Amino acid sequence: MLKDENHPKILIIDDEAISIDVLSGLLRPDYRITSAKSGENAILRLENQPLPDLILLDVVMPGMNGYAVCEWLKSNPRTRNIPVIFITSSISEEDETRGFSVGAVDYIGKPYRPGIVQARVKTHIELKRRGDMLERMAIIDGLTSIPNRRRFDQFLDYEWCRSVRYGHPFSLLLMDVDFFKLFNDHYGHAQGDYCLRQIAGAITRSMPRTMDLAARYGGEEFACVLPETTLIGGHAVAERILNAVRELAIPHAESKAAHYVTLSIGVASITPTIAQQPLSLIDQADQALYLAKRSGRNQVARLEAA
Ligand code: GH3
Ligand code: MG
Ligand code: MG
Repeated sequence: MLKDENHPKILIIDDEAISIDVLSGLLRPDYRITSAKSGENAILRLENQPLPDLILLDVVMPGMNGYAVCEWLKSNPRTRNIPVIFITSSISEEDETRGFSVGAVDYIGKPYRPGIVQARVKTHIELKRRGDMLERMAIIDGLTSIPNRRRFDQFLDYEWCRSVRYGHPFSLLLMDVDFFKLFNDHYGHAQGDYCLRQIAGAITRSMPRTMDLAARYGGEEFACVLPETTLIGGHAVAERILNAVRELAIPHAESKAAHYVTLSIGVASITPTIAQQPLSLIDQADQALYLAKRSGRNQVARLEAA
């Protein structure tokens, strides 16, 4: 049966086809089921395919046993958060304790009662989904649905370290909506919110590279981190964003920069050394932004970090 992408996905790892068949039959009505006949095979797949929401794992298998598979899953950042439930005939207290100590969330002995397996699977899938949602919410801005300041800070740190290690430049854009206080005063706060959402969309659409990050920096300010991008490249992206926001053509009767909503953008670029701190790049972009504001707004200004 075909299921849509929203159905939780379960991976069953077991060397016996019959065990996989029985478990699949039990869970198939509510979940998308995939299976692997060995730990090695499962790991290979988990390394380069979309991840499941839950793993049901056998203990005794030729090659890697279930405990070793679970240890691998828990030591790998990509798979660490997938809950693992052991389903096994190894049911001594020692086995069960070992299962929990390698990171399983539950341990079900065979023979099992079908209804109990379904219930325990459901519980752990719900907990996983809730955890995923909280994780997403922690890094997404509630108003604009683009990454928030926390995510920006993380990403800037990460990109900074990469740039120090590999010696390539990267760029930072700081953007601020022009005369936005007057916009709010004239059109009301709800229209202001709508405007910020439109701008976030225009910024995101102007940055097609998957490596780039656009975030809401705070209030009516946005920021972009552009990995492996020179000052000239960063300036070009900034011009594209500026135009995309102009093309939204959101009327702004009170603006002294244009008849519609505009941005000012500061661009800075750096190939950092170990001695420098990310704050120095933010400072540079901020100075560039100030320059753009002072020069009449609705424009890009750039500064090269020392
Ligand atoms: P400038 O051109 O110098 O940037 O002028 P400005 O009016 O944009 O700057 P100022 O910092 O004085 O005002 C920023 C305004 O942004 C004030 C605040 O009410 C508004 N603002 C900040 N966050 C939000 C928000 O989430 N929603 C709405 N509607 N307005 C916001
Ligand atoms: Mg501001
Ligand atoms: Mg402003």
